[in-house]
Amino acid sequence: MDELVGISAAPGIAIGDAFLYLDENPTVPRYAVAGKDLKRESTRFHEAVDKARNEIRQLRERQNSTHSDDQLQFLDSHLVMLDDREFIGTIERKLYAEELNVEWILFSTMRGLITRLDAAEDSYLRERTSDIHDVARRVLNHLLARERISLADLSKEVILITRDLLPSDAISMNKRMVKGIAMDAGGRTSHTAILARSFEIPAVLGLSTITRQASFGDRIIIDGNRGKVLLRPNHKTEKRYLLVQQEWRKREVRLMGLNELPAETRDGKLIMLKANIEVPEEVDSIAAHGADGIGLYRSEFLFLRAGGVPDEEEQYKAYSYVLDALGDKPVTIRTLDVGGDKFMPALAEVKERNPILGWRAVRFCLARQEYFVAQLRALLRASMHGNLRIMFPMISGIEELNKVTAVLEEVRAELRREGIAFREDIPVGIMIEVPSAAVTSDILAKKCDFFSIGTNDLIQYTIAVDRGNERIAYLYEPFHPGVLRLLKMVIDNAHAVGLSAGMCGEMAGDPLAALILLGLGLDEFSMSASGIPEVKRIIRSVSMSEAEEMVGNVMEMKSFEEVGGFVRDVMEKRFDVQTY
Ligand code: PEP
Ligand code: MG
Repeated sequence: MDELVGISAAPGIAIGDAFLYLDENPTVPRYAVAGKDLKRESTRFHEAVDKARNEIRQLRERQNSTHSDDQLQFLDSHLVMLDDREFIGTIERKLYAEELNVEWILFSTMRGLITRLDAAEDSYLRERTSDIHDVARRVLNHLLARERISLADLSKEVILITRDLLPSDAISMNKRMVKGIAMDAGGRTSHTAILARSFEIPAVLGLSTITRQASFGDRIIIDGNRGKVLLRPNHKTEKRYLLVQQEWRKREVRLMGLNELPAETRDGKLIMLKANIEVPEEVDSIAAHGADGIGLYRSEFLFLRAGGVPDEEEQYKAYSYVLDALGDKPVTIRTLDVGGDKFMPALAEVKERNPILGWRAVRFCLARQEYFVAQLRALLRASMHGNLRIMFPMISGIEELNKVTAVLEEVRAELRREGIAFREDIPVGIMIEVPSAAVTSDILAKKCDFFSIGTNDLIQYTIAVDRGNERIAYLYEPFHPGVLRLLKMVIDNAHAVGLSAGMCGEMAGDPLAALILLGLGLDEFSMSASGIPEVKRIIRSVSMSEAEEMVGNVMEMKSFEEVGGFVRDVMEKRFDVQTY
C-alpha cells in the first residue's frame, strides 16, 4: 500500500478502481481475451507494427533533405526496434501466456522495460527509455485508433487518475461514473477542483506522481477530507475507510436538516447563502442544500462544452431554464469569463505568454463584441423568466466598467427598438477579483449595483501565485494579511454607499473563514451548493459581536501563519470545524 499526500480539493471519501486518463499517453484498456481470439489479437498487433513502420519511413523521407544525420539516425533506431525479433517475440509470448488484449500487453511490457532501464547505472541505457516510449506509443496509437476512450463514454464506476484535467474535459465527463479524482497537477481553486466540489466528487489534487504510481485497475481510496490517496490498500484499511465513508455521509445528512432554516446569527443578522453553478443541470442541487439563490453562474461553461459556441437562442434557453427553476430567488449570471485555463475554440489561435494576465473575460468580450452582444441579448430576454442579476468578471478599473455598461446600454436600446421584452430593473454588478479594482472599489461602488468578491483570482493576483500550480500552492493563502486588508477595504467601500457586498470565490465556502467574513460584514456568501449547510451551521451558532471580535484580533496579526494558527484553533474548539 502506498500513501500519497496532496491538496484536498473536494471533500468526501471514494473507494474504487483506478482509471488512468492520460492525454499524452492514450488510455489503455485491459480485458481478458479468450484463447480462440488470441490469433486475432496477434494479427492486430502485426498490422499496427506495420503501420508504425510505414509512418516512420514516410517521416524519414520527408526529413531527408532538411534534417541532420543525427536526427535521421534516431528514426532509424526506431525502425530497428520495430524489426527486433526479440521485441515482437516477447509480446507474442506474453499475449498467449496472459490471455489479455494486446494493447495492454504492449503497454505493460513497455512500462516494465522503462522502469528497469530507468534504474540502470549506464546512462546510454537510461537514455533509451524515451525511444522505447516513442515507439510503443506509435504502435499503441494505431491499436487504439478505434477504441480511444473518452471520459464522456465511461460506462462503469471509476476513480479518475490524470495529470491535469481541462475544465472542458471535466464538464463533459460522465459524472455519474467518476466516483473520485486524483491528479498530479492542480490547486484548491483550480477550475477542476471547483468542478469536483460542484459535482460532489471527492478529489485530491497536486499529487505530482500519481499517474506514474498507479496502474489501470488498481484499487484506490481517495480521502478528499485529508487530501490523501491510498494506493493498493490492504483489506483492513479498505474496511476502515468504508466506515469513515459512512460516517461522512451521515454527517452530511445531519447537516441537511438545516435546509429550511435561515442563515441567521444569534443576534438576528440575516446572511444570504447562495450557490455557485457551472451547468444548468446543477439547479437540482440548489434546493437540496437550502440555497437562497445563485450567486454565481459561470456562463462560460456553456461555451466550453463539445459542440461549439452556443448562439443567442441556445443561451437564452439555458439562462431561462435556470431562472425558471429558481422562481423568485435571485440568479446572478456572470458574463463570459474565458481565457486563462478556460479555453474555447475561438481562442485557439491565440498563443499568449501569460494567459492568466492576458486576453480574458471582459477584455476578450470587448474586443470580440459579436460574442458579448449575443450573450447580453440572451440574458436580457431571459430576464423575463425570473430574478436575474448580471455580473461582469475581471473588471480592473472604471474604464472597463464604463465600456461594458455602454455595450449593455446599446443592447438594451436595440431590444427596445425591436420590441423585445426584458426587465428594466436588472441589478448590474461586478466581480472584485483584480487588486486594482479592490483598491479603487470606492470609485467602482458608485457605478454599479453590487460587488461580488472573487477571491480565487484576487488571491492569485495579490500574492502573485498561480492558483493552479501545485508547486507554489503553499503560498496561496486566503489568510494573508494583504488579502484580509483588501477584503476589508472592498466590503467597507461597498457599505459606504449602501451596496451589498458578496463573495463567490472559494473562500466563501471555507468553514475556517466563515467567522472572519461574517465579522468583516460580508452580506452574501456564494459557494458550491454542498458547502452551504456547514457554513450555515457556523453562522447560526454565533453572534456578530463574537465575529467582530475575531476580526479585531486577526487584523492585528502580521503573517498568514499567525492568522491561520489562531483561526484553526478557534474554529476547531469553538465550532467543531474539522481541520486536517
Ligand atoms: C474567482 O476568481 O474567485 C471566481 C469566483 O471566479 P473563477 O473561479 O471562475 O475565476
Ligand atoms: Mg475569477
